[in-house]
Amino acid sequence: MVRLVKSKGAPRRWVARLIGAGVAASIAASPALADALIDNVNGIALDRQGKVIHFTGLLMTPQGKITKLLDDHDKRPEKLDWRTDMHGAVMLPGFVDAHGHIMALGFRSMEVDLSDTHSLAEAKAKIAAYVAANPDKKWIFGGGWNQEQWGLGHFPTATDLDSVVSDRPVVLDRIDGHAVWVNSAAMKAAGVTASTKAPAGGQIVNGVFVDAARQLIEKALPQPLARERDAAFIRAQQLLLSNGITATDDMRTTLADWLTIRRAGDAGNLRMRIVSYADSIETANLTAGNGPSPWLYDGMLRMVGVKLFADGALGSRGACLKAPYADDPKNSGSCPLTDDQLRNTMSRAAMDGFQVAVHAVGDKANAQVLSAIDALADTYKGDRRWRIEHAQIVDPADLPQFAKHGTIASMQPIHAVSDMHMAEARLGPDRLAGAYAWKSMLDNDVPLAFGSDYPNDDFNPFHGWAAAFTRQDAQDLPFGGWQPQQRITRDQAWRAYTQGAAYASFSEDKYGMLAPGEWADFIIVDTDPTLASPSQLRNTKVEQTWVGGKMMWSNGQGRSDTDRSGDSR
Ligand SMILES: [Zn+2]
Repeated sequence: MVRLVKSKGAPRRWVARLIGAGVAASIAASPALADALIDNVNGIALDRQGKVIHFTGLLMTPQGKITKLLDDHDKRPEKLDWRTDMHGAVMLPGFVDAHGHIMALGFRSMEVDLSDTHSLAEAKAKIAAYVAANPDKKWIFGGGWNQEQWGLGHFPTATDLDSVVSDRPVVLDRIDGHAVWVNSAAMKAAGVTASTKAPAGGQIVNGVFVDAARQLIEKALPQPLARERDAAFIRAQQLLLSNGITATDDMRTTLADWLTIRRAGDAGNLRMRIVSYADSIETANLTAGNGPSPWLYDGMLRMVGVKLFADGALGSRGACLKAPYADDPKNSGSCPLTDDQLRNTMSRAAMDGFQVAVHAVGDKANAQVLSAIDALADTYKGDRRWRIEHAQIVDPADLPQFAKHGTIASMQPIHAVSDMHMAEARLGPDRLAGAYAWKSMLDNDVPLAFGSDYPNDDFNPFHGWAAAFTRQDAQDLPFGGWQPQQRITRDQAWRAYTQGAAYASFSEDKYGMLAPGEWADFIIVDTDPTLASPSQLRNTKVEQTWVGGKMMWSNGQGRSDTDRSGDSR
């Protein structure tokens, strides 16, 4: 291990700050410097066709772009800026999570987390312990609850929560983020009474506010301070990096979220790549101007699109279905926007040059978005990459519509294993053919992008990856897999979690694979994922996470003694 020249991070940051990142990259490039080499790796990746390739060394520019993958028999260059020896460790491309909520992840990690509770009683005990441990918090926030996981058969109630906390408002998000459960003190603070009616597209059920009704509570919540937002962002970034995620799409980025990420970038604390989809056309215009922003901070941040909603979630029966819920025959969910409203909103975003990503879970919502795309595709030609987020329940008859305009299915494989029992109850057996139908998507030539929808589900990409080719949970159940005809191969799933997710945000020439010209975004792990059993794959430990040729996170065990860390950024 010889280190000849230390990385030149600081001057670059300076340039980026002074003149804006769009031009910074070209000015900051210093071609006089020689390459850097990460040697003696068990490198495993996918090529552009999705085939597994192996390599033993990764050569990159001083700026952190890959110049060449080396085999054992390739001669190593003599003149190098810097080299390190990984002692045979497994190197993989960094994962790309195509759908997450970065600020929500950060806040969630600092609030009461009910995602691991298996009964209402257990949840109450956890809330009580959190409240006792946080006597200074005026409001209690948290989430992750799932009445299905509790075996409750109905939503919890405000009375349930009052019995734990009555002196302070408590606001708890459902696991899918589409409902909040509150106590009486929170309703009082929000001015909600027994006579308050739910707005269109929402429901109020004994202290649980679903979809559009959440707004009745959320408008009353105190806004976090800038320093609380900063802390939440740093925490979320750390969590994602430690799970091997080097890039993520951030869905429904608010203006405050964007400013938080910009503050991190300005301070040199942005350590992973983020592509933002604004929560509204207004936010997109304010943050990016007319059309997508350039890459900021040397390829770390970009505002590229707008995220819209066509329905809610299946668990809270907010998903918009063509036929009623099997377990609630009077209810088909709700599509809050008319066909015209949806098409006009999508049109406004597309007119400004933004990529359009629309949340659609139910089969009716998916059909609504697909027909809007069909209507708009004549006007907005070229490479638009319309995205449907979740595409969870699709009428098999509508599948060909996806491929017609190259619409991307942005899906979350982990949802299938967390949802399978609930989905069967909601849909009945006959509608499962098009549920979480990754294989059908690929068979219909639909570009597939994988993510996790963190913090609403487990974002460990190894868990999602295993779910995609087994359709089994962490206990290897059900035997043979749930709806196993929709399993895809291990390599197809890996590709959707890397190249597919990068493609979904127009980033495929920047990251998503280990190939010349791409950023050196990779991870060092303890398991060969191509040989591992599903349970070994799920248990893979990330040891180091590198972004742009710099180590941005490590487990501190020091596999290589590099100090090419991201601290200089
Ligand atoms: Zn989401």
